[in-house]
Amino acid sequence: SAKINGRNNYRFYTEDLGVSAKRLHNLYSYLHHAIANNELYLVYQPQFNATNTLIGAEALVRWNNPKLGQVSPDEFIPIAEESGMIHELGEWVIREALDTLVSWKSWLALNPDFKLAVNVSSKQLEHRNLTSYIKNNLSDRGLNAKHVEIEITESLLLEQKTYGMASMDELKEIGVNIAIDDFGTGYSSLSYLATLPLNKLKVDRSFVSGLHTNDTNKKLVETMINLASGLGLNVIAEGVETLDEKHALESLGCTEFQGFLFSKPISAIKFERQYLHKDI
Ligand code: C2E
Ligand code: MG
Ligand code: MG
Ligand code: MG
Repeated sequence: SAKINGRNNYRFYTEDLGVSAKRLHNLYSYLHHAIANNELYLVYQPQFNATNTLIGAEALVRWNNPKLGQVSPDEFIPIAEESGMIHELGEWVIREALDTLVSWKSWLALNPDFKLAVNVSSKQLEHRNLTSYIKNNLSDRGLNAKHVEIEITESLLLEQKTYGMASMDELKEIGVNIAIDDFGTGYSSLSYLATLPLNKLKVDRSFVSGLHTNDTNKKLVETMINLASGLGLNVIAEGVETLDEKHALESLGCTEFQGFLFSKPISAIKFERQYLHKDI
């Protein structure tokens, strides 16, 4: 009967809640020790231009916990943001990414336009120390800021309060590049975007997926590309999985690409072997 079904639904509902509350509790407590226990690591996904030349990479954080296994950043980054751990985690990501750049230094000297992109939460941007943290860690390592790009998710841009805007200006001033991530999923107005010190828009994967068969998405991506060119910004498409998508993007004027079609995110060692030592 309906009554029994209702009860059953209720029972399952509370059991689900019990499971997710416990998971949340575990995520919180284990994440606290993830850095000290060496459970975090970075993977790198290459970026290419229209002639298949490597132009950069995006660093993506991974968490492997002995009890939880591999946890997705989509699950733990929000928890890090909620709890304030994002500052320590974000600083670890910056140090680790810059250490990788150091190990690629001799190659960088021959490839002056290569950029390593690091995701930065808007919470970190609101923190007064972010720019000086990046600046100090660059100069400690003798690295040029032009090799670094930070990615800020569009949907979080509008949450910027007083200091986020100033942070972006400071980062731009020291020579760090700024990209808007997941572009098209937020609601940034043209006039707002024009006030930001940006270098690049990253077209969100949701518009790229099946682009060649979706006229609405084609129109939207075309609009984003025109917007970017009007603002003097580069455009990269993320989440490119098929040649059909790449060709459709090219026909709309997109010249930079990242996605499984080219490579999944891989370790620094593998990245180096695959892309930086081609002539050896
Ligand atoms: P994102 O910055 O938009 O990163 C792109 C995501 O798409 C990555 O997921 C990447 O692995 C995935 N991806 C790349 N190419 C393809 C493709 O062709 N097809 C499909 N289906 N997926 C593709 P990932 O690594 O799970 O990261 C998820 C999100 O977590 C990132 O989205 C970013 O917002 C956040 N994140 C990752 N690392 C960091 C970090 O170090 N700091 C912060 N604050 N956030 C991070
Ligand atoms: Mg990103
Ligand atoms: Mg993205
Ligand atoms: Mg994302």
